[in-house]
Amino acid sequence: LHRVDRRQRQMCIRDRMTTLEHELNLARRYQHELSVLVIDIDKFKKINDSEGHAAGDNVLQELVRLINKVNRNTDLCYRYGGEEFVVVLSKTDKYGAMVIAERLREAVAGLRICAESGPLQVTVSIGTSSYADGDCADSLLGRADKAMYRIKNQGGNGSAYYQQNQGE
Ligand code: GH3
Ligand code: MG
Ligand code: MG
Repeated sequence: LHRVDRRQRQMCIRDRMTTLEHELNLARRYQHELSVLVIDIDKFKKINDSEGHAAGDNVLQELVRLINKVNRNTDLCYRYGGEEFVVVLSKTDKYGAMVIAERLREAVAGLRICAESGPLQVTVSIGTSSYADGDCADSLLGRADKAMYRIKNQGGNGSAYYQQNQGE
C-alpha cells in the first residue's frame, strides 16, 4: 500500500510539473546529482524507407522497452521529438550517466528486431549532461543534445558527455 501511495503521489506531482522540472527542483534544493541522456536513433529514416513506417514504429516500441529494462525503474524515460528519447537519471553524476549511456548503447546494438525482411539492427547516439548551478531544463538538455550531435558527426553508435571546450 505504501508503494502504491508513493507512486500515486509521484504521478500527481508529475501531472503538475514535468518530470524533469521536478527533478531539477530536487537538484537545486537538496543538491542532488542529476543527469540526463538524449538518445537519438541513427539513420532511422532509412529504416522507415526500406522497411515501412509500421516497422519503424515497432523499432521505437522495442527501444522504449529496452530502455526501461536496462534502467533502474526509478529512472524516467520520455519521448523527445519523433525518434529521440530523454532519460532522466536522478541522483546520478556524470560518471554514472556515462556508464548507463554505454550500457544502453551496447544493449541497443545487440538487439535484433523482427521485421518482414529479417532481423533489424539499430544503433543510437547518446549525449549526456549533468546538472550545474543555474541550469534549467533547456540548458541541461541543450548540452546533452550537443554531445549527442558530436557522436552523430563521428558516425553514430556512441555516447559522450558534454565537455565545455569540445568545439562543436
Ligand atoms: P540521423 O542518423 O542523423 O539521426 O538520421 P535519422 O534518419 O535518424 O534522422 P532524421 O531526423 O533525418 O529522421 C528521423 C526520422 O524519424 C524521420 C521521421 O519520419 C521518423 N519518425 C519520427 N517519428 C516517427 C514515428 O513515430 N514512427 C516512425 N515510424 N517514424 C518516425
Ligand atoms: Mg533525430
Ligand atoms: Mg536519428
